[in-house]
Amino acid sequence: MRLLRSSHVFAPAELGAQDILIGGGRILAVGADLSAASALDGLISVETLPPGRLIPGLIDQHVHFIGGGEGDGPEARMPELAFEAFASAGITTAVGLLGSEIEAKTLPSLLRKAHELDRAGLTTFIYTGAMALPAPFLTQSVPSDIALLDKVIGAKSAISERAFPNLDFAAFAALAGSLVQAKAVSGKAAVLHLHVGRLRGGLAALFDLIEKIDFPPSQAVPTHINRASDVSPVFEHGIRFAKAGGTIDFTCCLGPRDGLPAGLDPVEAVLRALDAGVPAERITLSSDAGVAVPDHRGGFRAVPPAILLCDLLRLTTEGGLDWPQALAFVTGNVARVLGLSSRKGAIAPGMDADLVLVGEDGRVVWTMAAGRVVFGPGMITREMTVH
Ligand SMILES: [Zn+2]
Repeated sequence: MRLLRSSHVFAPAELGAQDILIGGGRILAVGADLSAASALDGLISVETLPPGRLIPGLIDQHVHFIGGGEGDGPEARMPELAFEAFASAGITTAVGLLGSEIEAKTLPSLLRKAHELDRAGLTTFIYTGAMALPAPFLTQSVPSDIALLDKVIGAKSAISERAFPNLDFAAFAALAGSLVQAKAVSGKAAVLHLHVGRLRGGLAALFDLIEKIDFPPSQAVPTHINRASDVSPVFEHGIRFAKAGGTIDFTCCLGPRDGLPAGLDPVEAVLRALDAGVPAERITLSSDAGVAVPDHRGGFRAVPPAILLCDLLRLTTEGGLDWPQALAFVTGNVARVLGLSSRKGAIAPGMDADLVLVGEDGRVVWTMAAGRVVFGPGMITREMTVH
């Protein structure tokens, strides 16, 4: 067991100086002074963390583990992401998905990659399905993937996307209906993770699902809601969806900073959504890491997972939000929509010991995933070890 002493804990709520007792990969206790635990002679090491904010490990619900591309041809094929890119960026849980290339990048290779990252220490999940309808699957069907495979927690689909202009509403509704069934059978969130492209329909197909088959808004997470263009109503539709009880996901790499002028900067998108009356708990942020964005030489580069932490920091500086509120977009809110709240997204007893120390300069000093140090010095300022 380890007792970590931190001067500044955000759970995401600000708790100040706290001791955190860890054992078996979980957080066993959190309290202002747990030094009495060190009386467990020979079983516990006590470590004082250097100054900085201790936050829950970030949860990234939209990552191209095996590299993405967005309909920009072979030049936009991006490589697989390495474990270190997550650990060094404070991400301890990630959900992988397929991009627009589904002929050569497949669900089996996505699942294998999820296992590889998991072995290294990251908690990983994947979405079955893809942009195409009928949705591809791994076993016998989308519901059987979710019921039979631990790593599958939902399905990806796409609406209003120029690269996959799916017009078959019946097929879309069949997929959504199968997710309602999968949720009941598996007990998982069985989320419909919905890529929203820039076509004029915006979220119209999602509104139709809710109206025509009573699809629960809480089971869908439309993403890329900060896609802004003259013709697409996606942002306005997103506000409407969130006010109706859904959760909307903004994408870090969509915006002028990443060479995509048709996107709204995610910090601005969050502030606009809050201004429009969207409850803060209905907003999440994901990286879209591994996807291709234009580079400065006329080619493409892959978005790094570190963009998530970068935008978390920007929300607190440029956006003026306090840390607990900004943190919820990349921890607690994401855990809730993915059905992981009992293990992920907070620093509290019973949770997985996924912890990140962010230094005063905004860099990750140290990342612990399920009780294992996966980035940074393994043992920091060892104050005392009882033998
Ligand atoms: Zn993507």
